[in-house]
Amino acid sequence: MSGQPCDRFEREGLARMEAGLPPDDHEIGCSTCQSAREDYERLGRALAELPPIKAPEGWERRVLDSLPASQSATGRLSWMPWALGLAAAAAIVFFIWRLDRPTPGPLSVRQQVVATSSGRRADSAAVGDSIRVSTQGGSGEVRELRLYRDTTELVARCPGDPGCAIVDGAPRLTFVLQAPGSYRSLAIVGPQKAPEPAGALDEDARAASAAGASVEMSRAVDVE
Ligand SMILES: [Zn+2]
Repeated sequence: MSGQPCDRFEREGLARMEAGLPPDDHEIGCSTCQSAREDYERLGRALAELPPIKAPEGWERRVLDSLPASQSATGRLSWMPWALGLAAAAAIVFFIWRLDRPTPGPLSVRQQVVATSSGRRADSAAVGDSIRVSTQGGSGEVRELRLYRDTTELVARCPGDPGCAIVDGAPRLTFVLQAPGSYRSLAIVGPQKAPEPAGALDEDARAASAAGASVEMSRAVDVE
């Protein structure tokens, strides 16, 4: 690894973000790209919150008049529609991006047993079964799911775990249960990345909450 900071978000991730696509595998594993995304999301929010501004009458003429006289009139005028088009496109992108976000309900987290061969109830499972954890609602750009066994052992994170997928901007974790115990998930949604987990459910929930995030825990699934 060289000491060069990663610029892949600018080269690839930004286009994905604008297209509404989830972070790719590289971005999920790259802290530089993740923080670049956070910066662009912050920028997007800041632009979206700007009050509408009406341009003063005759501003185009004043801009043209202030340019050095050596530039030909054709030269000046040829880039104007292009620049205005670009500015309009940027405004539209942010407008749509904002419209695209539905008003969120309260944060909730759902933990479901899937592919159970044993025909058990939804809140109990056997080693070898899978559970799927998903979250809805809450407001904030940074969403994370953490799955704990017996409330003291962090067994998976989303983003971060191979069983993690980002669906419509929200993390969804599918996890194969490899050991008996009581499994519970923690959903964290906030304006910034939550503090790194210390490993215990209650402690991590408190730390995230203290950092300004909304947190929600699932019901426990008991695995025999
Ligand atoms: Zn990167």
